[in-house]
Amino acid sequence: MDAYLQPAVAKIADELRCRPKGTKRMSARRLLRLFGYERRSHENVREIRGQFQRAGIHLEFDVGRPPTLDEPVFLHLDPSPGASEAQVAPSLAAPPLPAPPELPALPRPGELSGHGRRVVDVIAAVARATVQVFTEEGGGSGVVVDPDGLVLTCRHVVEGEDGLSERTARVDLWDGTHEAATVVRSHRALDFALLVVPRRGLPAVPMGDSLGLRAAESVYVVGSPAGLANSVSRGIVSAPRRTCLTNIEYIQTDAAIQPGNSGGPVVTESGDLVGIITWAYRGEEPARTPGISFAVPVDYVADEVAALRRLGLAGARRRPYCRHCGWLQSEERRYCENCGAMFVEKILEGSAR
Ligand SMILES: [Zn+2]
Repeated sequence: MDAYLQPAVAKIADELRCRPKGTKRMSARRLLRLFGYERRSHENVREIRGQFQRAGIHLEFDVGRPPTLDEPVFLHLDPSPGASEAQVAPSLAAPPLPAPPELPALPRPGELSGHGRRVVDVIAAVARATVQVFTEEGGGSGVVVDPDGLVLTCRHVVEGEDGLSERTARVDLWDGTHEAATVVRSHRALDFALLVVPRRGLPAVPMGDSLGLRAAESVYVVGSPAGLANSVSRGIVSAPRRTCLTNIEYIQTDAAIQPGNSGGPVVTESGDLVGIITWAYRGEEPARTPGISFAVPVDYVADEVAALRRLGLAGARRRPYCRHCGWLQSEERRYCENCGAMFVEKILEGSAR
């Protein structure tokens, strides 16, 4: 057995802590592949179960039955004293029709720090663009990247208990108001989601250059750890391009984060968005390893943001969306044009889940 907890286990543990019930469902195939296995055997399952146990997670994965790969497996966080209070989102009303698609210019990198603004003022501006995201399953943080109402967060923040991305969420804005948001794109492996809220003229952060980051550079994280909105923590870039899971180059930082930080912005001293907090390596229970956090770089997301803006945010909300793969469809159809999953429900704007 490895001396260290595998990154795949650490990331799932982090996701479960985001959920009030601390549960998750995924297919046996997906779970096995996370560990590099193509087949299910007693030995493979025993090793995976052992890894999860060390992270305080119970794995429901029966090897006694015929070994199909499509059946679901269940993961439960073992309840521990001091677990955070569940955040319960109110039921989501149908979002009103947004304004016509006339997109304002995006904020430019360096804009928040212009005119010799001090870091405290820069971060105050970032905090105004930082939001809290709630679904019926849990919540996290997010950040406005387009003043016309485009919010970037993590897919696992808007993921339902069935492992599929939800279509709607509630977004709490800096001014104390909240909006019903529509998920218009999500990505399972990169773990990001883009949501549209029917508001214009929102404070937004400029998307920076995450490829230009260097080790030891100062970064700031804003989010809602344990539901404490607009908490700021500071750290450095520990490694600008850390590949430790599914070939994704994460930004590794030592900034202190908690599960509620998921989806929240990581910005430079200039207030440029370089990543969103995705997960933290916490090591084995009960000992915890602080200061190893990972953010998905915004370079992975920039093209998606540009494509949605070209499409028009209002139009994107009305298009069918595949909860399975997170793809926005070009027209209404029975099967997802990207992954082939069948739509079991009509998922247009305003439809209740
Ligand atoms: Zn799909």
